[in-house]
Amino acid sequence: MDQASAAARGIDPTQPHPARRYNYWLGGKDNFAADRASGDELQRHFPAVRLGALANRALLQRATRFLAEEAGIRQFLDIGTGLPTADNTHEVAQRHAPESRIVYVDNDPLVMVHARALLNSSPEGRTAYIEADLNDPEAILANPVLHETLDLKQPVGLMLIAVLHFIHGDGAAQPIVRRLLDALPSGSYLVATHATSDFGTPEQQALYRQLVETGRSDVWTRPRDEFAALFEGLELIEPGVVPASEWRPDEGAEIPSRADINIWTAVARKP
Ligand code: SAH
Repeated sequence: MDQASAAARGIDPTQPHPARRYNYWLGGKDNFAADRASGDELQRHFPAVRLGALANRALLQRATRFLAEEAGIRQFLDIGTGLPTADNTHEVAQRHAPESRIVYVDNDPLVMVHARALLNSSPEGRTAYIEADLNDPEAILANPVLHETLDLKQPVGLMLIAVLHFIHGDGAAQPIVRRLLDALPSGSYLVATHATSDFGTPEQQALYRQLVETGRSDVWTRPRDEFAALFEGLELIEPGVVPASEWRPDEGAEIPSRADINIWTAVARKP
């Protein structure tokens, strides 16, 4: 996309954006020089960051499969969708249960440009896309497209995968997650993954804090306890709170070192 048509769609190619940087780490083509520079800088300090991105993406697919196959979930609210790549949430869910309905939400205008790839629903199911900000859960919950696509009286799989760490501030994610869960009925599930500094050496942790404080990283890492608190009042599914690559790994999968992954994961059911 050239600069002029990007600007017309509200896309600023000069500033790194999380969706585009993640797309770069995953080996995609939907990113600009600023995204690659930001991705490379983080990778210089944390050489395994691509491994973390891949582990996160693989977790999204395993957790979606779990919800569709084992938990019987047929409705998904996937906030912080990212740029479409292979095996998006609806593709994984509809492969098992073609009647699945999925609402995607993201605040990056470039995701909207690619939304057609998210809207290729199976004929039996349905997908929809809402451009909205996770900082404003009320706006998401009030959006008519959400209610046209999902029946909030039936269980919903709420997917907050690699998005809560863009909500900055100690304790800032919890009220947002609460508000969303309050709108969903018993039998709903929360799947969340979150970047953490827990596994870094003290030097890496200090360096990372500095990257955030100087605006060179927009990823607000959280410690295990703060992540686990997001699941208070829910029933954690085995194996509980673990690094992304350790949540129900595929048989024979190689488990990378925790210090290389740096992403907490959990799946839980609302009683
Ligand atoms: N969930 C996908 C993509 C993660 S990348 C996956 O795990 O594979 C993080 C996504 O969150 C990006 O697409 C970014 O645009 C989106 N995002 C970041 N902050 C957001 C916010 N405040 N509201 C909505 N989406 C946000």
